[in-house]
Amino acid sequence: MEAKEEVGTMEASAEASKILIFGGTGYIGKYMVKASIKYGHQTFVYTRPITPQSNPDKVNLHKEFASIGVTIIQGELDEHDKIVDAVRRVDVVISALPFPQVPDQVNIIEAIKVAGNIKRFLPSEFGVEEDRVTTLPPFEACLDKKRKIRRAVEAAGIPYTYVSANGFAAYFVNYLLRPHEEHEDVVVYGSGKAKALLNYEEDVAEYTIKVANDPRTCNRIVIYQMPKNIVSQLELIALWEKKTGRSFKRIHVHEEELVKLSETLPFPDNIPVSILHSLFVKVFLDFPSLVMAPTAAMLILSRHCKTTSPALPPPRSPPLDVKASALKWVALDSLLTHRGRSGSNNNQESKTVEADRSFSADSALEKRFKEALEFSWW
Ligand code: NAP
Repeated sequence: MEAKEEVGTMEASAEASKILIFGGTGYIGKYMVKASIKYGHQTFVYTRPITPQSNPDKVNLHKEFASIGVTIIQGELDEHDKIVDAVRRVDVVISALPFPQVPDQVNIIEAIKVAGNIKRFLPSEFGVEEDRVTTLPPFEACLDKKRKIRRAVEAAGIPYTYVSANGFAAYFVNYLLRPHEEHEDVVVYGSGKAKALLNYEEDVAEYTIKVANDPRTCNRIVIYQMPKNIVSQLELIALWEKKTGRSFKRIHVHEEELVKLSETLPFPDNIPVSILHSLFVKVFLDFPSLVMAPTAAMLILSRHCKTTSPALPPPRSPPLDVKASALKWVALDSLLTHRGRSGSNNNQESKTVEADRSFSADSALEKRFKEALEFSWW
């Protein structure tokens, strides 16, 4: 019951689409499951089976999900028939599988083809707009795997939405500022002046549930690009100093050093440095034309930083003095994206829609977004 109240659960409505989430027990997946329930969707999570060896946290999470009305379907990613059955029960499929399982999403694509009923598929993305950026080679190799899944979705004729969420804010702010550790210094990547785009995880999840159900975002790329969420490392550090009343020594890791590390470190250690380079040094922001997009994020995920930074930062009061912006999202026609890939994207048109006009009933989301920034950065 407590969990229900925590997420403000609405009754699942007959009209709301049914949503199946792969990776729903994971870092970003958990937020998506809760957002899906919150917005009244009958929600299903496809998850590897609980065994006597399962981590108690995972067992507890399954119980928590069950208590808020989530239907748990236990199975492996290679159980075709089971996945087809799961897919047949829903209208929308969202994958939040971790990077190593990105190629396994072909199994989901196959199941969606067989089931033939899915109105929208969102593959596991939620980072850079990978068709529009070129990053250092180790990260590029990772992005190629996500690009291949995009092309497979398109070849299968499955209605899709690709979400570029940019950097997960709590994740990267924790990584940079290490607020839970005693320390005197902060590592700054590059000059620290390049602007990054950081979106709070709970907002990423809520927007994703929204766009998964919005007819305007079918077969589109949606980029979460909130102008006031654009911040440099040096600005973040200054805000943190103001908030804590402390001062931190800045230790710069210069761009050349990051590039060199990406060339010399063995796989997979060469990946996080490449991501940091993409997120904080060689940033791909182009706001006036809304072309996209910094961040990286992805890989750091499962193997690396996650083990050294707190997994899910508990909400803490008050935040950095970052003010919420009007929620804006950008929907880009996939056709234009394809042209962009062949290098002729100069005439790309993109459409920016302000939340209060586009999501007419969404002042609550806007409010939620503001609250998220105001109260939940840590
Ligand atoms: P995650 O927490 O590492 O994993 C999600 C779930 O996948 C796990 O809870 C697990 O669920 C399942 N899983 C893990 N290993 C598996 C395996 N070997 N076989 C089958 N299932 C497995 O994922 P994440 O870090 O949230 O990443 C999700 C997406 O977000 C990825 O596309 C990633 O690149 C992206 N991301 C973006 C950012 C950013 O800043 N933009 C940051 C991090 C991640 P069960 O145990 O229930 O099966």
